[in-house]
Amino acid sequence: MRIPVTIVRGDGVGPEIMGAVLAILEAAKAPLAYQEVYLGQAAVQQGHPTGISAEALKAITQTGVLLKGPLMTPQGGGFSSVNVALRKLLDLYANVRPARAYGPYVATLHPRMDLVVIRENEEDLYVGQEYRQTPDVLQAAKITSHRACERIIRYAFDYARLHKRKKVTCLSKDNILKKTDGCFHAIFKTLSLAYPEIEAEHLIVDIGMARIVHKPEHFDVIVLSNLYGDILSDITAQLSGSVALGPSVNIGPEVALFEAIHGCAPDIATRDCANPSGLLLAALSMLGYLGQEAVAERIENAWLATLEAGQHTPDIYTPERSQHKVGTHAFAQAVIQRLGQKPHTLKPASRQASLKPLSREPEIPQKSLNLKALDVFMHWESSQARQHLETLKTLQLPHWTLACVQGRGLEVFPSTLVWPQFCDYWLCRFVPQEATAPPQAAIARLLTALAALREGKFVQVQVVYA
Ligand code: NAD
Repeated sequence: MRIPVTIVRGDGVGPEIMGAVLAILEAAKAPLAYQEVYLGQAAVQQGHPTGISAEALKAITQTGVLLKGPLMTPQGGGFSSVNVALRKLLDLYANVRPARAYGPYVATLHPRMDLVVIRENEEDLYVGQEYRQTPDVLQAAKITSHRACERIIRYAFDYARLHKRKKVTCLSKDNILKKTDGCFHAIFKTLSLAYPEIEAEHLIVDIGMARIVHKPEHFDVIVLSNLYGDILSDITAQLSGSVALGPSVNIGPEVALFEAIHGCAPDIATRDCANPSGLLLAALSMLGYLGQEAVAERIENAWLATLEAGQHTPDIYTPERSQHKVGTHAFAQAVIQRLGQKPHTLKPASRQASLKPLSREPEIPQKSLNLKALDVFMHWESSQARQHLETLKTLQLPHWTLACVQGRGLEVFPSTLVWPQFCDYWLCRFVPQEATAPPQAAIARLLTALAALREGKFVQVQVVYA
C-alpha cells in the first residue's frame, strides 16, 4: 500500500533536484504515491494570480504532506511569496532546519557542528503588511503574538527533549524591540522552567549569530523568530559546507511541508550541476514523518556513503577531498548504487523520532486592553514641521492632551535636544485627560479635529494600550 504525497517540482533547479530525489526514492522502494500539483509561476500562468490554486491546496490538505521544490518569488513587485503564503494557509508554524558538518569529506571550518535551527514560521515581518506612510517613509509591520511565541518555543523544547539535545538557545533583540522580541524572550524564560534537564540560554541576536559563526559546535537547538531564523539557517547551512545541504521541515497540526532551504538557484538551473542533497534530506524527514524510518535510514546511509566516496557535486567539490565532480543526475545514481551500504566514518543514520507537533495548543492570554494613548502619525513636510507643531499645540481638544511629538524617534515636544533633518513623518502622542479612558467616539472626534487643521495630513493612527 503506497502512501499518497503531494509534490511540486518548483522553479529553476527544482525540476532537476526533484527528478533526482524521486529516482532515489523509487530505487529504494519508498512506498509513496505521488500526486503532482503546480504552484507559483506555473500556477500564475494557468490563471491563478496568487500562485496557489484551490485544487492544489485541496490536494495538499488531503494528503497532508507536501514535498516541494523551490519556488521563485519576484523581487520588488509581482505576486507575493507562495512559500510564505503556504506556511500561513497550512498553519505550518514550526520550521526545523538541521545543519550538520560532514567532515572530513565535505570541507567545513567546523567539523563538529551539529545544530538545529527552529524558526517561527508565520509571523514577524513575513505577515507582509507594508505601507507607504509619506513620500519619504515606508513601513513594514513586525507582528508578534503571544500564541505564536509559545507554540514555537514549546516546540523547540519538546524537540530538544525528544531528540536528547542538551541545550536550547533563544536569540532575540529585546534590548531594542522591547515589546515584540521582549515577548519572545519572556515566554522562553517561563517555558524553560518546565524543562529542567535542558540548558536554556538567551543571547542578543547579533552577538548570538556572531558566536554561532565562530563556534557552531557550542550550539545545539536554536529557537528564534521568523526573519532571524531565515537568515541564521542559510548561514548555518553554508557553514556546514554548502547551502544545498540543508533540509527544511515545516510542521503544522494537520499538514507538513518538506523542502530544501535553498532557493531555485536560477544561476545554475538546467545545467545538471545542482546538489539535490537538501531536498533529499527533506524527503527523508518526510519518510520519518510518515512512519517509514527504515527506508529513510537506508537512503541516508547510501547518501553518507556517497559523500565518503568523494562523489561530489560542484558546490562541495574540492580536489583534496573529492574523487569525482558529478552532476545532479550522476550524484543520484551514485546514491542509488550505494543503497544497502553504510558509511565507514560518518555517523550512520538514526531516524526513530517523530517530527510531528508535540504539545497542546497554547491559550490566548486573557488581558484587558486599557487605552493609554493615541499615536497619530502626521505627514508634515520637513520645512513646515515646526510651524505645524506650533498650530497643533494651540488646538483645544476635549478628552485629550498632546503629550509628545517625535520625528524619526527624536522628541521635539515637549523637549528638544536635536531637531531631525529631512523628516516628513511625525508621531504625535495624545493622552487621555482623565484617569478613565475616553470613549471610542473620542478617538473619532480627535481625528476629525486634526483633519480640519488643513496642516499636513494624518497617515496612520495607532491606539496604544497598556
Ligand atoms: P538561492 O538559494 O536560489 O541561491 C543562492 C546561491 O546558492 C546561488 O549561488 C545558487 O547557485 C546556490 N545554490 C542554491 N541551491 C543550490 C543547489 N541545490 N546546488 C548548488 N548550488 C545551489 O537563493 P537566491 O538566489 O537568493 O534566490 C533565488 C530565488 O529562489 C528567489 O526567487 C527566491 O525568492 C527563491 N527562494 C525560494 C525558496 C523556497 O522555495 N523555499 C527559498 C529561498 C529562496
